Amino acid sequence: PAGRTPLMAGNWKMNLDHLQATHLVQKLDWTLRDAKHDYEAVEVAVLAPFTDLRSVQTLIEGDRLRLAHGAQDLSVHDAGAYTGEVSGAFLAKLGCTYVVVGHSERREYHGEDDATVNAKVKAAYRHGLTPILCVGEGLDVRKADGHVAHVLAQLDAALEGVTAEQVRSIVVAYEPVWAIGTGEVATPADAQEVCAAIRTRLAELYSGDTADGIRILYGGSVKAANVAAIMAESDVDGALVGGASIVVEEFASICRYR
Ligand code: PEP
Repeated sequence: PAGRTPLMAGNWKMNLDHLQATHLVQKLDWTLRDAKHDYEAVEVAVLAPFTDLRSVQTLIEGDRLRLAHGAQDLSVHDAGAYTGEVSGAFLAKLGCTYVVVGHSERREYHGEDDATVNAKVKAAYRHGLTPILCVGEGLDVRKADGHVAHVLAQLDAALEGVTAEQVRSIVVAYEPVWAIGTGEVATPADAQEVCAAIRTRLAELYSGDTADGIRILYGGSVKAANVAAIMAESDVDGALVGGASIVVEEFASICRYR
């Protein structure tokens, strides 16, 4: 929409064994190529577990696949005594374009607060990675009609100290927590309301031109059957897809929504 290239990003979460992961990448590419998918018109990315990234990179670079790839999280630190952490530097070496930051599952199960999310956004930029910054409200907030304020507060906090130059490449994903993995998708109007509010806030924080260039995705139970209606909304520039992204035909159909 409005000159922005739509992005369909598949968040595999902690699913698939290594063989399934490498098969999925190859089969997704074959399926899209067979369908003569125009990757310039709709960008496609896979967001794999850390342990699959080297193989995904090898497949993509070795076979010159048009898919982009990325990770689902990164450390706030660049190197050092942080056992078990994975730095942005490592992800950059693995050819990652994207890294998910602030997914609701990390906020909820791993105690990531807004300050951590902000530090991770900055860590991504230090290593030339594009953050896919996730924001979204829980059901209680939605019921109390506080969803727009909640999402904008998350956005403000995540972008604290992020420069106008850096923010140009960011991808923001609006993911209402009540719609993630529940089968309950937001209506297109619900998605548009919040995505438009995010764009307006980006214009206030930076500039109208900057905001117009930033891709804002919707995420939450996106499937082939509902993606076109959501993508018809003017401020929705793609989808962050969980469950449906590990079923090749389904994800390929999502990528080919139009
Ligand atoms: C997600 O985890 O980002 C997501 C949107 O999941 P699902 O599509 O399964 O709701």
